[in-house]
Amino acid sequence: MIEVVEPATAEVMATVREAGVEETDAAVAAAKAAFPAWRAIAPADRSRLLHRVADAVEEHHDELATLEARNAGKPIGDARGEMGMVAETFRYYAGAVERLLGDTIPVAGGVDFTFREPLGVVGLIVPWNFPLTIASWKMAPALAAGNTLVLKPAELTPLTALRFAEIALEAGVPEGVVNVVAGPGRVCGQRLVEHPDVAKIAFTGSTEVGRRIAESAAPTIKRVTLELGGKSANVVFADADLAAAAQAAPLAVFGNAGQDCCARSRILVERRALDEFMSYLEAAVRGVRVGDPLDESTQMGPLISEDQRATVASFVPDDAPVAIRGEAPDGPGFWFPPTVLAPVSNDDRAAREEIFGPVAAVIPFDSEEHAVRLANETIYGLSGSVWTRNGARALRVARAIETGVISINSNTSVRVSTPFGGFKQSGVGRELGPHALEHYTELKNVYYATEE
Ligand code: NAP
Ligand code: MG
Repeated sequence: MIEVVEPATAEVMATVREAGVEETDAAVAAAKAAFPAWRAIAPADRSRLLHRVADAVEEHHDELATLEARNAGKPIGDARGEMGMVAETFRYYAGAVERLLGDTIPVAGGVDFTFREPLGVVGLIVPWNFPLTIASWKMAPALAAGNTLVLKPAELTPLTALRFAEIALEAGVPEGVVNVVAGPGRVCGQRLVEHPDVAKIAFTGSTEVGRRIAESAAPTIKRVTLELGGKSANVVFADADLAAAAQAAPLAVFGNAGQDCCARSRILVERRALDEFMSYLEAAVRGVRVGDPLDESTQMGPLISEDQRATVASFVPDDAPVAIRGEAPDGPGFWFPPTVLAPVSNDDRAAREEIFGPVAAVIPFDSEEHAVRLANETIYGLSGSVWTRNGARALRVARAIETGVISINSNTSVRVSTPFGGFKQSGVGRELGPHALEHYTELKNVYYATEE
């Protein structure tokens, strides 16, 4: 059995039967058996079923949000927003089922056209930071395109995935189309990656495990999309609305207790504005409300586990340049205070490695060219922001930073309708928007000779 721990109390909140290789194989077999009927459903009917899943998620909104908030230790307000996005994601891809258009291509001697075919059984492996949200980004386009799936949630956070599978079944999704295996990554995840009947792996998690998945997928030439780590830059120029940039900066790192692949954990600030920015930042960090995830006013909860807390603490040794330290509760639970290190060099470990905790590094820069160079001096390229009132500079810098998504005068990263994914070692492929569908389909070309 898996003992599922509630991070805010460090107590066991549920026990779940642990899946192994045998259960994973059974789930793949069920998905394989369900595939022919699922791909054959009339598009309008498949669309309607996915809308029904969205409706069902909305009907179970509070239940799912509370389960996610408790299991992942995230503020209830955030969890509600996330469950809203899960429903929206299913609705968006419900609308895509009838829009999987092909091309007609001018050729000699006949007509030529293309189809977007489903892949078959897809394996989805997701992390513990946004458990059901990230799963929905994969499940919805996979199902819309006519695939069946096996979802492996993180061992620490299996509850919303298991509940979702029940809800989807009740909403009318046929048996075998959505399967969940709750078990260790090195067992169930690894088996999915190696399984000859799994056509594709869509993975979100660490760059380290992503590398292993790419290697293990090679023998079966499996399609792989990877959403991995990040070390994103929040670039603040002296001509920006400094108060607004500083007000927004804390939750862009401390949101989800920093356990966010899009965390803008390197705050690059133009040196001549540094003192003014830091004074605004200090007030904003002190205003972050850390506490019980189920309290409506909470903005930051605990870390996911004791291990994670120890890892995060290793980035803040006694001699670290701590400029601002917020509050965190004592007592049980895996708490860590919002922490700002300043000034930090881009070569320091806190600026190079993904911390995945509430620790921000402030790095001063002297010119636009310097800012772009610092932003790009990383193996990652997932997210980022530029704050300036100079529109031409905003666009120059947004184009020059090697990253999958970037916001100007905003710290937002994901929307259901726009593509999300990484450059460099932050990943391969895109999720969300129309672009995700490419990764759940094969392109087939048909040529029809018309000359007698
Ligand atoms: P992780 O350790 O890489 O685990 C992710 C998933 O992979 C879990 O379900 C895990 O299972 C499974 N797994 C572990 N070893 C495996 C193996 N050998 N084969 C197949 N699957 C395996 O990541 P995490 O610690 O959960 O999450 C933190 C990381 O995720 C961070 O680096 C973060 O940046 C990244 N992340 C990226 C995005 C993005 O969209 N780019 C979004 C969120 C998070 P178990 O946990 O059950 O062992
Ligand atoms: Mg891990």
